[in-house]
Amino acid sequence: MVNGISPEAEFQQHLQQLSSAFALRLQEEMPLLKLNAERLLHSSEPHEQLQHLQALRDQLHKLAGAAGTFGFSSLGQRARELEQEADKWLDTLQKEQQSLQDFSRSLLQLASEQFQAPVIEEPAVKRTRPARSNPSSRRIYILEDQPAIGESMRLTLNNFGYQAEHFMRIADLEQALDRQLPGALIVDVNLPDEALTGLQYAAQLQQRLDEPLPLLVITTQDDFATHLEAVRVGALGFFTKPVDITQLENRLERCFAQQQGEPYRVMIIDDDRELASRFSLILRDANMLVEMLHEPSEIFARMRSFNPEVVLLDVCMPCCTGPELAQIIRMNDDWLRVPIVYLSAETDNNRQMNALIKAGDDFLTKPISDNALIAAVFSRAQRARLLSNALSRDSLTGLLKHGDIKEQVGIELERAQRSGKPASVAMLDIDFFKKVNDSYGHAAGDNVIRALANLLRQRLRRVDSLGRYGGEEFLVVLPDCPAEQARRILDEIRQRFAELHFIAGEQQFSVTLSAGIASTRDDSAQANDLLERADRALYAAKHGGRNQVC
Ligand code: GH3
Ligand code: MG
Ligand code: MG
Repeated sequence: MVNGISPEAEFQQHLQQLSSAFALRLQEEMPLLKLNAERLLHSSEPHEQLQHLQALRDQLHKLAGAAGTFGFSSLGQRARELEQEADKWLDTLQKEQQSLQDFSRSLLQLASEQFQAPVIEEPAVKRTRPARSNPSSRRIYILEDQPAIGESMRLTLNNFGYQAEHFMRIADLEQALDRQLPGALIVDVNLPDEALTGLQYAAQLQQRLDEPLPLLVITTQDDFATHLEAVRVGALGFFTKPVDITQLENRLERCFAQQQGEPYRVMIIDDDRELASRFSLILRDANMLVEMLHEPSEIFARMRSFNPEVVLLDVCMPCCTGPELAQIIRMNDDWLRVPIVYLSAETDNNRQMNALIKAGDDFLTKPISDNALIAAVFSRAQRARLLSNALSRDSLTGLLKHGDIKEQVGIELERAQRSGKPASVAMLDIDFFKKVNDSYGHAAGDNVIRALANLLRQRLRRVDSLGRYGGEEFLVVLPDCPAEQARRILDEIRQRFAELHFIAGEQQFSVTLSAGIASTRDDSAQANDLLERADRALYAAKHGGRNQVC
């Protein structure tokens, strides 16, 4: 024992001294900690932040280790916690720094590169250009082993203005095919006298042809498997026996209309002129009509003058957003049939969905390949036109409905007044049509109505408008056509119609029509006035003995 102090007490004393020394050290350490913390707080430069954090982390590390040892257990614990947090921050900041630097380097590299316009080469895979072959004729071949069904179909289709030929055997059809290809082919599935079914034969035939023939299938089998087989050989229509010839003819008409149809009209709304021009070029090359709109405020005038069938809409534009513009378009019921497709670099699903919920029908994401653009626009335009036709056209005849044809009278009247070229309207009515229904049945009556519609379609020009005004009443508008010329045209149609032979069961019959014509005069005529005069002329034709044009 030295100086009467036990070794244990001495040890305790030592410890106490060290702790006191540490407490003194803390008096220097803490202001340093404070200083570093303040520096961190006030620095905005990432590099400085990193430095301060590192200093703080080292200091905390030491503190955490020491404080507990010297009995400052709560300080030690808090220093440890803060050290761990500092570690995390360091880690994050370092990573961020690294990726920010990588990012900056990529930017520098991109900025220092030289760019030249790519050499556009003929694509190895030919661009898919939707086929629009011109069918040589309205020739229809029918393959049907039952003579009665085939013959009645042939006669009815001929009534409708087609050149139909009926074959009972594949060999006979083959000979006809060698002579000339038809515009469409109708095949029966069950051919008991042949080695192949109609569909098996059609599959072989389609493979031999450069371009598949529009194909309609008639069958007694209404099951899924037969439908599937029909689709696989490229059938465009499927009809179960007894065939509703009106429906079948409707489908034929649609096949021909699609083949000879006018190009689809597409409007591109994008503030990026180069991009819009490129899209426009691609779509024009695929046989579509394209207009570009860079100034959203012109939307009303341009929609009216161009009447697009599809609108391609950019999402981000300076003066208003795509979804806002889509909502403006959707406020007008006239444009309800026009699909609106966003063409945007937006890949965020949530934002895409939000845009779609407001208005618009679909999203195409930029960049998009040329083929994908063509396919997307073509399919939407096709569907839009089909739907639009179904809405504005009468389902029996495919002609314009009452309201639409009346509107057409007004439009043509205005045009006639502007151009000074006279327009004519003609009102047609089938004679004694009630008797047709009463004697041969309503279905036979429907066939007569449809036959007249087809006759009008074939005899009149593309610029003429045709409408079903009422049950068996038709209205045609003939722009740039004086009354005398209109009378000649209508009289020829009257004669042709009277020559048609209709079949109902075992019976044959024919029907006549009467027509009244009115033309624009120099004085400012109103549409209603014109219609009234045509109606009076029709009344005169009926009273004059029917089967005539007045
Ligand atoms: P008129 O020579 O004076 O014109 O005599 P009409 O019998 O043709 O004239 P009316 O107007 O008295 O009869 C027209 C008939 O047309 C009455 C109606 O049942 C029939 N009809 C109207 N729409 C259709 C249709 O879509 N299909 C069929 N099958 N008949 C229709
Ligand atoms: Mg009538
Ligand atoms: Mg009538």
